[in-house]
Amino acid sequence: MTRRLFVTTALPYANGNFHIGHIMEYIQADIWVRFQRMRGNEVHFVCADDAHGAPIMIAAEKAGVTPRQFVDNIAAGRPPYLQGFHIEFDNWSHTDSEENHALCREIYLDLQQAGLIETREIEQFFDPEKGMFLPDRFIKGECPQCGAKDQYGDNCEVCGAVYAPTDLKHPFSALSGATPVLKTSQHYFFKLSDPRCVAYLKQWTQDGKLQPEVANKIKEWFEPKKDENGQPLSQADSGLSDWDISRDAPYFGIEIPGAPGKYFYVWFDAPIGYLASLKNLMTRRGEDFDAFMADPSVEQYHFIGKDIVTFHTLFWPAVLHFAKRKEPNNIFVHGHLTVNGEKMSKSRGNGIDPLKYLSLGMNPEWLRYYIAAKLNAHVEDADFNTSDFVTRVNSDLVGKYINIASRAAGFLTKRFNGKLGKVSADGQALLTQLQAGIAPIATSFEAREYGKALRDTMLLADRVNEYVDQNKPWELAKQEGQEARLHDVCTTCIEAFRLLTLVLKPVLPSLSQQVEAFLNIAPMRFTDANHFLGEGHAIQTYQHLMQRVDPKHIEALFEAPPALATLAEKAEPAESTLPGGEAIAPTITIDDFAKVDLRIAKIVACEAVEGSTKLLRLSLDAGEGRLRNVFSGIASAYKPEQLVGQLTVLVANLAPRKMKFGVSEGMVLAASHADDKAQPGIYVLTPWPGAQPGMRIG
Ligand SMILES: [Zn+2]
Repeated sequence: MTRRLFVTTALPYANGNFHIGHIMEYIQADIWVRFQRMRGNEVHFVCADDAHGAPIMIAAEKAGVTPRQFVDNIAAGRPPYLQGFHIEFDNWSHTDSEENHALCREIYLDLQQAGLIETREIEQFFDPEKGMFLPDRFIKGECPQCGAKDQYGDNCEVCGAVYAPTDLKHPFSALSGATPVLKTSQHYFFKLSDPRCVAYLKQWTQDGKLQPEVANKIKEWFEPKKDENGQPLSQADSGLSDWDISRDAPYFGIEIPGAPGKYFYVWFDAPIGYLASLKNLMTRRGEDFDAFMADPSVEQYHFIGKDIVTFHTLFWPAVLHFAKRKEPNNIFVHGHLTVNGEKMSKSRGNGIDPLKYLSLGMNPEWLRYYIAAKLNAHVEDADFNTSDFVTRVNSDLVGKYINIASRAAGFLTKRFNGKLGKVSADGQALLTQLQAGIAPIATSFEAREYGKALRDTMLLADRVNEYVDQNKPWELAKQEGQEARLHDVCTTCIEAFRLLTLVLKPVLPSLSQQVEAFLNIAPMRFTDANHFLGEGHAIQTYQHLMQRVDPKHIEALFEAPPALATLAEKAEPAESTLPGGEAIAPTITIDDFAKVDLRIAKIVACEAVEGSTKLLRLSLDAGEGRLRNVFSGIASAYKPEQLVGQLTVLVANLAPRKMKFGVSEGMVLAASHADDKAQPGIYVLTPWPGAQPGMRIG
């Protein structure tokens, strides 16, 4: 039976670019979605930028743009990450959308109707200079416990004490420096302590669907607050407190109906953004969102990190339930990503910059495979261990899996016209073993036990490699009268390779596409495991499918950026209104532009030029079947090893130029300021991931 699934990842806050933690969550969800689709299920996979709240309002003001422009600018930077790592959401929206405004109002009114909204006067710090109530994070002062200066309004980073902002000594506004004053304001609360909510949530969180560690943590929240002797302060206490869902103007958010100057707290409208993004998608497709959400068979899942469990397991299901909407079928919680056993941080310099990873020419599917290998269904942190990464990619992925195809395909093409032959009993036994292994692997994917799925896949690959080692096709090829056996063995290998690719496809979507083209087959689904390619099936000529990781990649990934870039960042902005220090050149026609043949080129080798402090010698592959020698004046900005393996842009039809050090056959494009003394820095151009050497630019 076809399942209908609605799947989301957490909405990223739109105040910065993605970090590797986002990419890990998206890869986890993307694998699950691709798996479900390969099972024939219908999946709607959406996300959106979380646009509202005080931090974005304040950041936008600093940047001199409207909050909406600020969010749009951040959103414009999302595609290179998503496309780069083959993360395919069906829709990417934002929470300031028309759909979200409307849904938030509807849901709020439904909750009000249900008698679960209440107003209360609360006292809060107010910045008299900025004319606004201050979020906890924007109030600083001295820790009431240890006296440490310059601590935030919610906790002390020196002694770890947790307190209310009103407990701070000598508080001040982090926005204006002014001393905040206490001011009362009417706030809107969602009555989570209402017995109906408590009863509902006890059931929803403890019925066995949630991960056990998540359910156990939540259980503690239902316990009444206790005195120092461990006795409950009140028998009526459910442990749950009402949830403050309003903020006062000025606030970037959605105004509460019937409450001018009051806005929904960003955490109220953000999860509703899941629904709004889906509605936005379905409206564009001409599909009926309300009918879809009213279908009881539709399943709803959210992938989230462990830091936002409360919002997703208490507030969110309760809001949906009492607004008479579909509730999540489950919340899939993951841990954080650590690097070599340590928490990532910019100051330690051990973070992995996803775009840097791609710009180094590192294969995105290495990371997808590695992250999948480290993930399971528990809320455990996953560790990116650099030597383990190299081993898993090089030994498992390339050594055990890719090599099966590369060892067999050449013989089929050269000796048998690319056609598969008969498989004899021993080969058939191997293939049957592989087929039998696929169902348990699918079960692991379903349960998000990706690490187990990949371990089991590699065990199957081991069986195939044992078969290859026993039969040694490279020796059969040299022996007389072994043609039929060679054909048999190579056919078995290709059939096995197809089955292994099928189970790896959710993790390696781009590689699988290449394999499907190589094997001449339609996009694979799990039911394709039940049949074989069969005798007479023709395959294409094998082309190398995946490189090994070069340890230099890893070094470069963790290397600090060149000092020059920092220098340029610190340079004063030029006074002149001329962009980049010079006027735009006179207008040309499209024909003039077409005379310049710009091509993507791969920097295959790069070295310093003896006798020159300015030049580097580059060997470039522009897809011509030969390498070009190009000298480039970029030695002050790049070390040769930083450039090797990178893609760049080459002026391919520039007349060769004889220089003191040799002939330069073209020019590499780089950006710089017209006055390199006022604003030093040279920046070599590099295309977005996916571009191939030889592609023309225009
Ligand atoms: Zn302290």
